[in-house]
Amino acid sequence: MKMLLHSYEITRTLPCLADPEKIRVIADVSGEIHEVFPYLNTILKGCIYNHPANTLTIKKDGKLFTLHAHHITLTKIEDEKEAEEILRWLKDLINDTYENRAKIEPNYSMAAELKALDIFKLLPGTNCKKCGELTCLGFAVKLVGRDIEIRKCDPLFSEKYQEKRNVLLELLQASGFEVPSEFLNP
Ligand code: SF4
Repeated sequence: MKMLLHSYEITRTLPCLADPEKIRVIADVSGEIHEVFPYLNTILKGCIYNHPANTLTIKKDGKLFTLHAHHITLTKIEDEKEAEEILRWLKDLINDTYENRAKIEPNYSMAAELKALDIFKLLPGTNCKKCGELTCLGFAVKLVGRDIEIRKCDPLFSEKYQEKRNVLLELLQASGFEVPSEFLNP
């Protein structure tokens, strides 16, 4: 079997921004894995592929796994044991998909785009109208249609909503949206 991902190593364990009870794990991978992303984009339901940025985000059991060419980020993880299990699953998924790629039509489109509801869940949800919209859902619909910028939701950029904001900005960036870089995590 020709493997694309031979090994990985957990290099950072951080508090999870979306859930303080959980952790965020970053693992470096051997070699480059982005060649498999368009094939994973075909076989996985609901993943977010950003071809120009070379990232693929997989949503599974309320967790987000973002694959980059050289590393993988896991969010909302219980502990390192769970991280190891997910990384083993991802390694098998990546290598199996890569081995079978001749039988899979690669999909380079960002078809599984972010839904307005995904965005809405991460907004303050107060319907304060400061963005000029009547409701947060209305704002989310406009945002997904690229008719308004995330920065227009001023309350989201207050300290109170830092955790939601971090997750939302990460999701938006993975989906190819412009996000204010000064608010992104390093
Ligand atoms: S400013 Fe933000 S919190 Fe207020 S209504 Fe608009 S989207 Fe909702």
